[in-house]
Amino acid sequence: MIWNSVTAMTLIDMVIISLTLLAIRNIYMTRKLLKQLDLLSGSLLMMCGLVLIAMFYVADISVMHILPTFVSMDYAVSIMTRLHLSYNWIASAVGISFIIISILYFNRILYPKIRTLETELRYRASTDSLTKTHNRSKFDEILTAEVKRAKRYNHTLSLIEFDIDHFKAINDNHGHLHGDYALKTVVELARKSVRNVDHLARWGGEEFMIILPETELERAEAIAERIKEEVENFDFNKIGKVTVSFGVAEFRITDSEEMLIKRADDALYAAKRNGRNRVEVCV
Ligand code: GH3
Ligand code: MG
Ligand code: MG
Repeated sequence: MIWNSVTAMTLIDMVIISLTLLAIRNIYMTRKLLKQLDLLSGSLLMMCGLVLIAMFYVADISVMHILPTFVSMDYAVSIMTRLHLSYNWIASAVGISFIIISILYFNRILYPKIRTLETELRYRASTDSLTKTHNRSKFDEILTAEVKRAKRYNHTLSLIEFDIDHFKAINDNHGHLHGDYALKTVVELARKSVRNVDHLARWGGEEFMIILPETELERAEAIAERIKEEVENFDFNKIGKVTVSFGVAEFRITDSEEMLIKRADDALYAAKRNGRNRVEVCV
């Protein structure tokens, strides 16, 4: 009877000690990341708690195994019962305290930090660092979703593609920093003319896309004209005048994403061919 319970206890103890060692190993392996996240001290605190609990169990095992070889079984059982009475509640109190601390630590500190980090990573993975617009992969993701939606509900959808005119000359004449300033300013001016539901994305170097859900061609054209005028009339200080060319296309029910982009692209090239600083529409 006593050996059976000793064996059962030993197995439980072994599991607890293995889990403790695993937790220590995990904290050790991720110590750099934990330090970066400012979570190392909290993790070490938890680890100390686990070590302490494991130590109680090690003491327990030792007593259970060693004692019966020196004294009679009855005496060993009575000592163990007394020992358990005195330190089992300490072990339980320490164990429960650490479980509460761990839950608080995970809920109040670790989880919010992981959520913040996740949001930041998501933002970085989908945003162009210079202009803070959506990047190319986010653009692809949004366009796929909007095309699907337009097809399913037979809704209107338009696409504006725009490209800064003679941008290479701005870089060559004024340097890349001024080029960057022009890029950011054009984006800010464009942002002012679009709605919150529209999606502005950097498509390439100085080429941008605007996805306009629930928007027909004439309205999209008017938005492009407005951005064109905003940029044209803006004072870019040292750089002088900056102009932009636009291609506008409306989604057709048989369109794939590529076909819609191709039509906006063709319209943009027509705008370039026809003298730049203008809006061309694909009809
Ligand atoms: P076009 O009127 O036909 O559009 O001529 P362009 O000079 O604007 O076009 P081109 O494609 O010849 O040049 C684009 C330039 O944009 C070349 C590239 O170095 C520059 N560029 C691309 N990305 C950036 C960037 O992030 N910052 C800066 N400053 N320049 C960039
Ligand atoms: Mg250009
Ligand atoms: Mg270009």
